[in-house]
Amino acid sequence: MVSGEDDLSTADGRMVARFKAAADAGEAERTGERIARARKAKRDKGEPHSAFRPFGWQKDRIHLDPIEAQHAREAVSILIEGASLHEVCRGFNDAGLRTSRGNPWTYQTALTYFHNPRLAGYVGQDGELYLHSLTGDPVKGQWDPLIELDTFERLCARLDRNKELGIHVRDRNEKALLSGVLRCGVCGTRMHAISGRGGNLRPDGTRTKRYNAAYRCGLMTSSLGTENKHYMVIDRLQTEETVVGLLLRYMARISLETQPAPQTWPQEEELTAKEERAKALLAAFSRGELSEARVFPVVQTLEDEIATLKKARRRWLAETAGPIPEQLSREEWDNLPTHKQRGYIDRVFSSIVVTRSQATGRPRFDPDRLRPVWREAR
Ligand SMILES: [Zn+2]
Repeated sequence: MVSGEDDLSTADGRMVARFKAAADAGEAERTGERIARARKAKRDKGEPHSAFRPFGWQKDRIHLDPIEAQHAREAVSILIEGASLHEVCRGFNDAGLRTSRGNPWTYQTALTYFHNPRLAGYVGQDGELYLHSLTGDPVKGQWDPLIELDTFERLCARLDRNKELGIHVRDRNEKALLSGVLRCGVCGTRMHAISGRGGNLRPDGTRTKRYNAAYRCGLMTSSLGTENKHYMVIDRLQTEETVVGLLLRYMARISLETQPAPQTWPQEEELTAKEERAKALLAAFSRGELSEARVFPVVQTLEDEIATLKKARRRWLAETAGPIPEQLSREEWDNLPTHKQRGYIDRVFSSIVVTRSQATGRPRFDPDRLRPVWREAR
């Protein structure tokens, strides 16, 4: 903003100019605060607040668009099963779907979209649940939800897990079942797939040596210095074959035992109780029934415990997001889409450690190098 013309060559002129500048800054700040207040009021009331129509809803931002909503729900269900955001974007773009701004779907737009609590009918802010400015409770939006809150939480946990496994970065790894699940037995880093190289044709018609597709430790080739150098590569197809064998045998066995996995997190009640207790204490404090010294140390402890429980809950959701283990024949397995196969693997193994090869000379595939870490005690 410009504060008119002042004679800056005199001390008085400069002082006046300073006052005016300060007044302008104050005005801009107040305008900013007014806008922020208006936004907050909208969120507190659960009114739609986005600048653009959200994908899956009609122009009114309240009612669902049946076609887009259907696509979004299908995407959520394959994401929970283990698909990557890249796969979803490709599916959307191939089906001719565009974001509500009319752009093709990209990893980044999908990441923001599927992390938005709006999907579950809640007001969001920066990918988190928005909490009411006075009560501190999550605010239900006035729009129709696209999925249940449970499903949304599972989705977020699953997306976090994909990020952990490194599935989001490497497009070429999408067909690789064990990317991120395998861990280097020397340094512990997650291993990812590298594509094989076909042998080059020599003038005499023979081919040069062919490298098989493999999994490799990501730190192996880094410039960490010679003392950290190590060789950690394992054949991709034979490793997958071995792991799938283990998995199918495991699933066949546990499907005979009659202990279905719990569908709700075992500590759910404990968490709710602690949340309610903290809320009740604060309410008693605000009514003047309990003193600050009585309330706040307890509330602080409760809040720490709540945070720890919530973290554990998110972990549990991520780990149980995949399909429930069941008996599958080899043929049924081979007919599953990759994201489902990956979902089963991630559900059963927390990781598979690849130990150093004991063989000298030309390395041969040795299934004993694979040390599976099972999620559930066997
Ligand atoms: Zn390593």
